[in-house]
Amino acid sequence: MFRFPKNILIAGPCSVESREQILYTAQQIKNIPYLSLFRAGVWKPRTRPGSFEGHGEEALKWLQEIKEQIQLPICIEIAHPKHLELALSYNIDVVWLGARTTTNPFSVNEIASALKGVNIPVMIKNPMHPEVKLWIGAIERIMSTGISEIAAIHRGFFYYGNDMYRNKPLWQIPLELKTLFSNIPIICDPSHIAGKKEYVFEISQKAMNIGMNGLMIETHYNPSIALSDKEQQLTPKELLQLIQKIEFLNDNSSDRNFNDNLHILRQIIDEIDEEILTLIAKRLNIVKQIAYYKNEHKVTAFQLSRWKEILKTRKSIAKELALSKNFIDQFLSLLHEESINTQNRILNQPETEIHYTKKK
Ligand code: PEP
Ligand code: MN
Repeated sequence: MFRFPKNILIAGPCSVESREQILYTAQQIKNIPYLSLFRAGVWKPRTRPGSFEGHGEEALKWLQEIKEQIQLPICIEIAHPKHLELALSYNIDVVWLGARTTTNPFSVNEIASALKGVNIPVMIKNPMHPEVKLWIGAIERIMSTGISEIAAIHRGFFYYGNDMYRNKPLWQIPLELKTLFSNIPIICDPSHIAGKKEYVFEISQKAMNIGMNGLMIETHYNPSIALSDKEQQLTPKELLQLIQKIEFLNDNSSDRNFNDNLHILRQIIDEIDEEILTLIAKRLNIVKQIAYYKNEHKVTAFQLSRWKEILKTRKSIAKELALSKNFIDQFLSLLHEESINTQNRILNQPETEIHYTKKK
C-alpha cells in the first residue's frame, strides 16, 4: 500500500482529458525529483453546468493502462461511494476528498461508511470556507473507519471579492490543524490557491517555509489546451524548474551554536510576551474603570470620535515602527472588540452591585 513519504510531490493534470494527454504528461514528469504520486481528476466538480465534467469510468481505464507504463501510483478525487467503488475496481492507489465534499458532512459520512474495511490512503482537502472544525470533522470521520494513511491538503479558501489569488491561503488554518493533528502530513495545493501559474512558485516556497509536508501541483503537457483550470497548470518543464529552485527546509537542526542562539532569542521572546500580556491586562483594567464611570453617567460603551482617534494615532505609530498594516488593523480591531465586551459586562448594572474604588 502507498505510504506518504516526507517531502511528497504529487503532480498531474487537473482532469483526465484523453488517454494521450495523461500519457504524455506522465512520461514528461515521471523523473522529476520527489514525484511519488500522479494526480488526475476523473469526475470534475464544476461550478456551473455546461463545462467539462470529466470522462468518468472511461478515464479510469486509461489511468489503469498508463499506470503500468509510468510506474507511478495514481490518485484521484472521489465525491461519492460509487466513485470509491470504481476507483478500487481500477486499482487507484490513493483517493482524495475535494473541497466541496469536505464542506458537506453528509457526503463525508457516506464515503466514510463505504471506506469501512477498505485500506486505501485518503487525502482530505480543506473545506471551501475557512472553518477548521469542518476540516477536522472530515478527518475524524475518515479516521474512524480505520484508514491508517491519511493526509490533509491545503488548497485555500473561497472569498468574495478580488484578490490576486483564486483562493485565500489563510496559513494560520493549516497551522492550527498541524497543532491539533501533528501526525497527519499536510500537503499544499498551490495551484488551486494561485489560480494563475505565475503564483505557484511563491506559494509553494511559503508552504515549505512553514513546514508543510509536500506539494500537489497541477501539470499538463500543454496547459493552453486544457479543458479545466488551464491558467494554473504548469508544463512539465516549469514543474521541473520549480522543484530545482525550491528550498526544502528542515524542521530542526543539529548545529549546537544555532540551537544555543535560538534558545537565547526565544527566552527574550518569552519575556516580551509576558510584558505584552501584562500590559494588555493593565489596559483592560483601565477599560473597566471607564465602564464604571460611563455606567454612572449613562454613557454608551462606543464613542465614534474616540475610536477614530485611536485608529489614527495608533496606525501612525505602527507605520513609524514598520508594523504591517494588515496586522495592526486586525490587532486594533481585536483590542477594541475586547474593550467593548468588557464595558458591556459592566454597563446597565445597578451601581450598588458594582465593587470598585472611585475617587471622590
Ligand atoms: C482539483 O484538485 O482539481 C479540485 C477540483 O480541487 P478542489 O477540490 O480543491 O477545488
Ligand atoms: Mn483543478
